[in-house]
Amino acid sequence: MNTGGSKSPQRRPNNMKTMSPQDFVFLNKIGSGSYSEVYKAKYKTAIDDFNNKRQHFFAIKICSKEHIIREQKEKYVNVEKLTLLKLASKMIHPGIVNLYYTFHDTYNLYFVLDYISCGELFTYLYNSINKSMIQDYKIIERFVAQLLDTLKYLEINSIVHRDLKPENILLNKKGCLMITDFGVACDLSNSQRAIDDQMRASSFVGTADYVSPELLLTNSCSYKADIWAAGCIFYQLRQGYPPFRGKNELETFENIVSGNHKPMLNMEDNIDYLDLVKQLLVVDEDNRLSVDEAMTHPFCNNINWEQKNMIWTGIWE
Ligand code: ATP
Repeated sequence: MNTGGSKSPQRRPNNMKTMSPQDFVFLNKIGSGSYSEVYKAKYKTAIDDFNNKRQHFFAIKICSKEHIIREQKEKYVNVEKLTLLKLASKMIHPGIVNLYYTFHDTYNLYFVLDYISCGELFTYLYNSINKSMIQDYKIIERFVAQLLDTLKYLEINSIVHRDLKPENILLNKKGCLMITDFGVACDLSNSQRAIDDQMRASSFVGTADYVSPELLLTNSCSYKADIWAAGCIFYQLRQGYPPFRGKNELETFENIVSGNHKPMLNMEDNIDYLDLVKQLLVVDEDNRLSVDEAMTHPFCNNINWEQKNMIWTGIWE
C-alpha cells in the first residue's frame, strides 16, 4: 500500500540504543493538553542508521508522571501508546500520526510523533475564508476520501478511535488529514475492552458534539461510533457548525439521542452529499452506513479506492 510519499525516518533498528530526551533538540512549544505538553523537536545529531538525509521534525508529547498519577490518566496514556504501536507495526498509514519512540525519565513520559505542521482541521475550518464552511466539493471529496480510507484502516486493525472530532484531526503541509489522539481508543480484538469501556463511561470528557447515541446510551463501542463522528464532521465541513450542538451539553446530548439536528442548508447543488451525511447520522447504528457502505455511496463514485496516490494528494498540492 502506498504510504503517501512519506519521507519519514525508518523504524529504529533493533541493535540501536534506546532513545532518550538527550537525543533531541527541543524547539518551540506547540501546545498543551489535559495531561501533556507538546514540543517541536529534531534529532540532536544526524543518525545515519535512518538513511535520513533531510531534517525531520518531530512533535514530542511530554506527560508528567506526577500529573498522570494525580489525575488518574494512566489508562489514557497506556491506551494511546498501545494503539499507536499496534497501528504502526505493519505499515505507516498516511492518515494516522505516526509514533516513532516512547521513553521515560524520572519525571516524564515521552511520545515521539510525526510533526504535523498545519494545525488542526478545527482551526482550518474556523479560519476559513468561507466563514467556516467549505464550498468547494473537490476539497470536501478529498477530506471524505481521506477520512474514510483511514477509518477503513482502523477497522482492519480492530480499532475504534471513539473521540474523532476536528480538534483531533491534523493537517499536514500538503493539506492531507491525519488522525491523532488515540487516548480513549478501543481495541475490539482485545478482551480488555469491557474494562476500557467502563473507564470511558465513568470519565467522559471533552466536547460532546461528536459522540454517538449508542455511546451515550449504552456505552457500547463499535466502528459505527467513528462513522457517526465522521457524519458530524462532514456536516460541519459544509454547514460550519456541528449538527447537534445545543445551548448546553445536556441539550446537545438530547439532540444526539433523538437525532434532532438542524437541516443542512444550501445543499441543492449536491444532493449526494446531503444523502451521505443523512445516512451517517442515523441514530439506530444497525441502520447507519458502515465504512464500506459509505465508500460505495454515490457521493464517492469518483473516488478510486485503489488509487492511494490520488486519495492522499493534499488540498494544497
Ligand atoms: P487533550 O489531550 O486534553 O484532549 P489535546 O489533544 O489538545 O488535549 P495534545 O494531544 O497534548 O492535547 O496536543 C496539544 C497540542 O499539540 C494541540 O494543539 C495539538 O494540535 C498539538 N499537537 C499534538 N500532536 C501534534 C503533532 N503530532 N504535530 C503537531 N501538533 C501536534
